[in-house]
Amino acid sequence: MHVNQDRLIQIFFELVSISAVSKQEKPVADYVREFLKNNNIQVFEDQTGQIVGGTSGNLIAKIYPGAKAVPSQFCLAAHMDTVKPTTGIKPQNQDGIICSDGQTILGADNRAGIALILYLVESLKQQASHIPFEVVFTIGEETGLYGSTHLDIDRLESRTVYILDSSADPGSFVYAAPAAIDFTINFIGKASHAAVNPQAGINAISMAAHLIQNFEVGKINDDTTINLGKINGGEANNVVPALVTLTGEIRSFLSEDIENSFQDLVKQLKRTEKMFSGKYAIKREEAFPGFILDQKSDAICRIISCFQVIGLESKPMRYHGGSDANILNSRGMVAIDLGIGAKNPHANDEYITVQDLLTMQKFLQKLVAAGN
Ligand SMILES: [Zn+2]
Repeated sequence: MHVNQDRLIQIFFELVSISAVSKQEKPVADYVREFLKNNNIQVFEDQTGQIVGGTSGNLIAKIYPGAKAVPSQFCLAAHMDTVKPTTGIKPQNQDGIICSDGQTILGADNRAGIALILYLVESLKQQASHIPFEVVFTIGEETGLYGSTHLDIDRLESRTVYILDSSADPGSFVYAAPAAIDFTINFIGKASHAAVNPQAGINAISMAAHLIQNFEVGKINDDTTINLGKINGGEANNVVPALVTLTGEIRSFLSEDIENSFQDLVKQLKRTEKMFSGKYAIKREEAFPGFILDQKSDAICRIISCFQVIGLESKPMRYHGGSDANILNSRGMVAIDLGIGAKNPHANDEYITVQDLLTMQKFLQKLVAAGN
């Protein structure tokens, strides 16, 4: 298994040099389409761009050897958007560590994933046979998981998707992620002149403060986290505030923990309401669904055996964030996020090592190798 390091890095540098944030993925989609076309691969663009108001939809292509169309066994996926623009990027290879000059993000999240897939496709041209598979390039991952939410999955033959988007080291893969709900609380007090007639008012800020003091946030247990994220309210220094809005989230690997925590919150709100003779209103909505995959499933056994062959320790992990994997798992696919080693995502000191790129490329080559 030989990997042409210079070519792999070249593709990666070309990709990060294209600035394309969420819902403005067209330039990078054009690059991907052109690249695949040059390898005689047809690309399908789904409707997601129109649905969410983006400049491109998700791209889907089938990679199969020769003319015989056998069903694809799995998809490889990566997202096309970066969290911030990469305009003016100066990507550099400093003794095996690829980074920007510190003025921009590197964009390894997730252009490294795209580069790995494109290099793989190009390298398969020289091979007589390999396992047929599909590739999926999604949009709008960073700002709302739009691409996976609207992905035209009827276009796909396979129901297993390996997403090359975790910042963990190669060999790591995500088998579980929490579900999350968002909530918005309105504390409704009563306005009154703060000096002339304060006793007629009900202070909504005091209500919010009481709740905040009595409701536990942070890491509640190994499975569950709660956050109060944003607060807003009041009018002027001489007015007893009548309205405070407080928002937050509850995340857990266990759905009953989400319910229990939410009920605790409601209980505290009722106490607060009673104590201040004010009112509250609470609204909740699902932020994203969670998943726990069977570690003995075919989809997971397949990657574990490939890691083994290339001498890499496999590390199943739980990831507390939300990603395209959450959405695709909830849509009836088996979606597994794989660590590719892109470190410090979203920051200007983001980097990825050449070694990790090469390791992941070797893994992919093994994954699609005939007879595997
Ligand atoms: Zn990402």
